[in-house]
Order: sequence, then structure tokens, then C-alpha cells
Amino acid sequence: MKPDSQSVAEVLSALTKEFPNPKTELIYDNPFELIIAVILSAQCTDARVNQTTPALFKKYPTPKALSEAKAAEVEKLIHACGFFRAKTKAIISTASDLHHKFGGKVPGTLEELVTLAGVGRKTASVVLNQAFDVPAIAVDTHVKRVSHRLGWAKHPHPDKIEFELKGLVPEHQWAAINGLLILHGRKTCKARTPLCDRCSLTEWCAFAKARGETAQRSRPKASSRKKNKGTVSARGAQPSR
Ligand code: SF4
Repeated sequence: MKPDSQSVAEVLSALTKEFPNPKTELIYDNPFELIIAVILSAQCTDARVNQTTPALFKKYPTPKALSEAKAAEVEKLIHACGFFRAKTKAIISTASDLHHKFGGKVPGTLEELVTLAGVGRKTASVVLNQAFDVPAIAVDTHVKRVSHRLGWAKHPHPDKIEFELKGLVPEHQWAAINGLLILHGRKTCKARTPLCDRCSLTEWCAFAKARGETAQRSRPKASSRKKNKGTVSARGAQPSR
């Protein structure tokens, strides 16, 4: 069942109390540094990216400089971020597009941002939110998982989830929802084992409700308890991966 606007507002209110400043933890001085940092953050922690980018931006402080970089040198600098060959290719391509197509400036619209090599809707949305204060929803693995469990989204594809969330959450909260769901996903609604017993969202959460209902349905009758000593199954409410 689609959640009502009241329950969505209550979830956002509970999360805002827990995380009053849900901004990205990536450190950057300008939109160019942000877009490169976001690309590097795929499958990598923000802390690791923050350790890596100072040397990268010292050596290549502009899109032009990075577009002219030798791949092998960039690979050495970003090696710790993982997938260093693919990420090197992506950030050099992005820098090249910024230099050649946009005069070295990061554009401020989704339509323009997604034309950059190496930039998809998720990266573009983060940049819009953080660098330009433009409302956007970036769907990463945490946003996807928590949205599914809350019952806010059904689609597996991030682009579709983005539109499901945009249909539920008021536009002025699009920027905040990213940070809130990411922080909640990291701290409590973990991928393998969600910590429902200490979560403030259980009363609005489809996953928690399904698990409770499953437990009720599976509870053996008094007469058959001795025969059935197995554990309660939460099938149908498995954590997303
Ligand atoms: S109740 Fe459990 S599944 Fe639902 S949001 Fe909280 S941790 Fe995630």
C-alpha cells in the first residue's frame, strides 16, 4: 500500500531529529571538486575519498589540468578509492567535457550534467543539491534499500525509484531526503542486518510490519508447540541487498 503524506512527513521528522544536518561528508571547495569527489565515492567511503582528493586537486586543480593528465599518474593518486582504472577514465572524461563543452564550469542543470561523460543521474543530483541548492533526489544503494524497506518504492531501478520518491516527498525536502536515508541506512537500516529493534521508524516501516505479521502468522498453536520448535520465518520481508 502506498504510504500517505502524513506518515512520510513523520518519518522525515523522526530522521531530521536524529540527523539534523544531513549533508554530504565529502570535502570540496567548488563544484568541480564536488563532481570529481562524487565519482570517486562510488563503492568507496567518503572518508577515503577525502583522504585522496587533496593530492589530486593539488596536482590537477581545474578541469583543463585534469583533462590533460596522464592516466597512469591519476591512477596512482586515486588508487585507494578502488576501481581506480575505471574511475580515472571517468574523471578525466568528465574534466575533458567540462573544459571543452562548458568552458571549465560545472553546469547547473540535470539535463546538462548528465551529458558529461562519467556522470549519471545520481552524481548529477548530488551536485545539484550540494553545489547549486537545486532540489533533486540521488538514489544510491542506501536510498534504494531504505526506500524499499519503508515501502516508499517498489522499482529495482534507481531512476524509477527517484520518481517514486519525488511523488511522495515534497520538493523542498528532496535535498534533505538523500542525506537522511543514507545516514539512516549506514547507521541502522544496514544492508545485511537492519537494526529494527533500535530503529525509530518501525511504526511506519513496511519491512518491520511484514516481519511482525509473519511472526504472528507463523506462531504455532498451543496444541502443536511441542512439535514445531523451528524459528519464525521472515520470508517475504528479506533485507534487500
Ligand atoms: S524498522 Fe528496520 S527495516 Fe524499517 S527502516 Fe528501521 S531498520 Fe530499516
